[in-house]
Amino acid sequence: MATGKINVSVENIFPLIKKFLYSDHEIFLRELVSNGTDATLKLKHLISIGEAKVEYGNPIIEVKVDKEGKKIHIIDQGLGMTADEVEKYINQVAFSGAEEFLDKYKDSAKDSGIIGHFGLGFYSAFMVAEKVEIITKSYKDEPAAHWTCDGSPEFTLEPADKTSRGTEIILHIAEDSLEFLDDSKISGLLNKYNKFMPIPIKFGTRTETLPKPEDAPEDYVNETVETDNIINNPNPAWTKQPSELSDEDYKNFYRELYPMQFEEPLFHIHLNVDYPFNLTGILYFPKLGTDMQIQKDKIQLYQNQVYVTDNVEGIVPEFLTMLKGVIDSPDIPLNVSRSGLQADGAVKKISNYITRKVADKLKALFNENRADFEQKWNDIKIVLEYGMLSEEKFYEKAGAFVLYPTVDDTYFTLEELKEKLKENQTDKDGKLVVLYAGNKDAQHSYIEAAKDKGYEVLLLDSPIISHLIQKIENDNSGLTFVRVDSDHIDNLIKKEENTISKLSDDEKAALKTSLEAYIPKAYSVQLEAMDSQAAPFIITQPEFMRRMKEMSQTGGGGMFGMGNMPEMYNLVVNTNSDLASSILNTEDKTHQEHLVKQALDLAKLSQNLLKGEALTAFVKRSFEMIK
Ligand code: ADP
Repeated sequence: MATGKINVSVENIFPLIKKFLYSDHEIFLRELVSNGTDATLKLKHLISIGEAKVEYGNPIIEVKVDKEGKKIHIIDQGLGMTADEVEKYINQVAFSGAEEFLDKYKDSAKDSGIIGHFGLGFYSAFMVAEKVEIITKSYKDEPAAHWTCDGSPEFTLEPADKTSRGTEIILHIAEDSLEFLDDSKISGLLNKYNKFMPIPIKFGTRTETLPKPEDAPEDYVNETVETDNIINNPNPAWTKQPSELSDEDYKNFYRELYPMQFEEPLFHIHLNVDYPFNLTGILYFPKLGTDMQIQKDKIQLYQNQVYVTDNVEGIVPEFLTMLKGVIDSPDIPLNVSRSGLQADGAVKKISNYITRKVADKLKALFNENRADFEQKWNDIKIVLEYGMLSEEKFYEKAGAFVLYPTVDDTYFTLEELKEKLKENQTDKDGKLVVLYAGNKDAQHSYIEAAKDKGYEVLLLDSPIISHLIQKIENDNSGLTFVRVDSDHIDNLIKKEENTISKLSDDEKAALKTSLEAYIPKAYSVQLEAMDSQAAPFIITQPEFMRRMKEMSQTGGGGMFGMGNMPEMYNLVVNTNSDLASSILNTEDKTHQEHLVKQALDLAKLSQNLLKGEALTAFVKRSFEMIK
């Protein structure tokens, strides 16, 4: 038996590793199963180039838990190692790898948020084990080797009697890690990290019921057999060519990824690039409402089919983190911090590629089947609008597929909308006026009034819409957006002729005085001659103030800290209405006040502004009136 001392500069590398990676001990299993996978794939390669003259067979990796013996076994049928190779790869390569990792990690640990802790490799075994054994037999005609190490730099290496090719790693689980001896813990980890690894992974057995034979007697009892319980799918959809996959295959894969998700995705985007970087994956657009709810099932990042993380911040453009699916790329550096990621050139390229692919796919979907795209619009708009705000490249491409629906479900692209508005919605400066509603119910009367005048009214109801409107306006689009309940829309749209006022200037001045006596200060009274059938009192809000307020509430755009801007309203009074005349001609001051207040409350009610005590008082007063 040979014994030796591993040459490391840090005497106690293991306690350090353990300490630094305190929260991620569980990755040992991923690392060891990955090593078994690598060993198997290497053998396959050696056979294919004629270097190894052995039978490949149907190799699997087996994970076994020995609860009584407090051991976990990880067994592969890969290329194995000779004693010399153990000396070289385990004592030298793996150790130096561990040291190097530690060096790197110590620096970047300051900058929290390292992804995945990849690359620690074999030595991660010591995060959970107090002693590790390797029993390995190379595919070469050499005796098997048995290596043992208790975590100190001393090891033993002796011959073993293993005859089958491959490597068995035996972990003697430490007292503080006994939780890993739970079957459910291990199957949970295999499911998390190894679900799509390319070599079948066996964990325990399964009882399978055999089909009933045709000539079975009445009292036949189904026979059962014990079969290997394979926990992974070695050929997940993203590793295949899009041409090999049907729509159903994509949907099935979605269910495989998110077994608890019952809603079907709206569409998928298959990513596949091998130059100048390697990236495959499938992204799905889930059904999203108007609220940007916190995502539970997130995009998963893999490297060569090994799960790394579901925190893809910095890799996928932020607006696409609302999507689901898988990205697999060996070119994403993993032992760097988040800020390091953002500075990385390759990562920036990957992020740009994904943005471009998503834009291209959306454009294609729009062109192939516009009706279908329109139907899905409400479920995807939030992502797209957010993308337009946050990624300039996406904004530039968005014209080809981003839609602006009207309150009556006609969908315009921006160009189509401009054509439409040219007909009769321009203001005095020649700008096209886009009228929009943010809520069909709350702004119902305003929408109806605008439609009656023949105006086109859009329904723009995303929580971030005010930011987008602002951006489009500032983008030399020749458009100006006005919500239907804003400073009276007729002022903004150029009109052929104004309605003649029934009141003289003196009468108007008198009316204004009477109104201002009873109307709260937050309202600025505006008199306007409108059609006599139009509403007598209308409350509007200055578009600019309201929009700024909304923007500050939804964040971004440097609008923080403007949350407590005052509420400001206009009270537009139709001087041609009968009510205006009544107010003007009522001598009794009490009765006049009554009229004004009741009318104001009605106007407030239609704008959803009458609440609480004021609403109660209004209802009571109204009942009195009809008694
Ligand atoms: P890495 O896998 O990143 O090279 P590791 O520390 O995990 O680093 O392993 C070091 C080396 O030990 C590997 O490169 C490989 O040559 C060898 N090795 C580890 N596990 C196995 C295994 N199951 N079968 C064959 N060789 C292995």
